[in-house]
Amino acid sequence: ESVVLAIDDLRTHFRTEQGVVRAVDGVSLTVPRGKTVCVVGESGCGKSVTARSVLGLVDPPGRIEAGHIWWRPDPGTAPLDLAGLDPRGEPIRNIRGNQIGMVFQEPMASLSPMYTIGNQLTQAIRLHVNLSAKEARERAIAQLVRVGIPQPERRFDAYPFQLSGGMCQRAMIAIALACDPALLIADEPTTALDVTTQARILDLIRELQDETGMAVMFITHDLGVVAEMADEVVVMYLGTVVERGTVTDIFERPRHPYTQALLESVPAIGRGDRARLRTIAGMVPHPDDRPTGCPFHTRCRSAMPGLCDVTPPAAHDLGDGRVAACHLLDPDLPPSPTPAVAPV
Ligand code: SF4
Ligand code: MG
Repeated sequence: ESVVLAIDDLRTHFRTEQGVVRAVDGVSLTVPRGKTVCVVGESGCGKSVTARSVLGLVDPPGRIEAGHIWWRPDPGTAPLDLAGLDPRGEPIRNIRGNQIGMVFQEPMASLSPMYTIGNQLTQAIRLHVNLSAKEARERAIAQLVRVGIPQPERRFDAYPFQLSGGMCQRAMIAIALACDPALLIADEPTTALDVTTQARILDLIRELQDETGMAVMFITHDLGVVAEMADEVVVMYLGTVVERGTVTDIFERPRHPYTQALLESVPAIGRGDRARLRTIAGMVPHPDDRPTGCPFHTRCRSAMPGLCDVTPPAAHDLGDGRVAACHLLDPDLPPSPTPAVAPV
């Protein structure tokens, strides 16, 4: 299977006066061509830093310390390691917004308040394609139509503050897709929107994906969104990947205690069984105060003292592209006297 993006043991750390914050600490994942990979986890687990590392948008004092970000938009060419590029250099700026589109949670943070939607969209188009002003305008209007913005001729001359949050997010998507990227990175793009608008934006992203064949890396804390969007799921906790698999495997047969706890903590999708909701015990430790051993051991119901608090678990390959990092899945582990995973 062909992949557009392969992140290999990525480490992105922030060197602060208080010490080193290992926001991303050994993340590996792949995004297959044309598929949607959802990266899910509670806030502070390193999802956004992973995405920003790909885009060369990690703010100082953060930097990529180790690992690779293999980028291969065209299967006929050799992969390029984005981790090796100067984040302020020309090559990554060329890739960003041209080969990789991006949409963030707050459209207002990405759209300039000073320029009209049409102006910003036209600039994005002309940055990458050599068109006359008139041709760029026509193409921009066509983009606004494509993302479902009504009265595009009028919206072309509107400023971001004159549009609703949903319309701004559509405009962001229009800008992100202006150059037919091979990958769209969407970081919580619907979190700030009401439920109806959120559903429409998710539909739009799926439609555009069908139409263009682009891959999508979708960052979210919302398992409902994951169920709706994902082909594959990457579950992160404290800067590491704890489990990866297809959306069916993750929802129907979660193997990692953290994934199991996450699934128990949301309203059962389709079951409407809100009464039996559990929350995950304890707080996510701060990334600058990571537990030793397994990062999840301070909250894990199945933690094995003397092992989980000491030795970090390896990422066990469970076949069919499934990986989970937990000692319970170690085939060499002696069977425990108690059930390995406590029943709910
Ligand atoms: Fe729980 Fe231990 Fe598995 Fe970590 S390695 S998830 S603490 S059982
Ligand atoms: Mg985030």
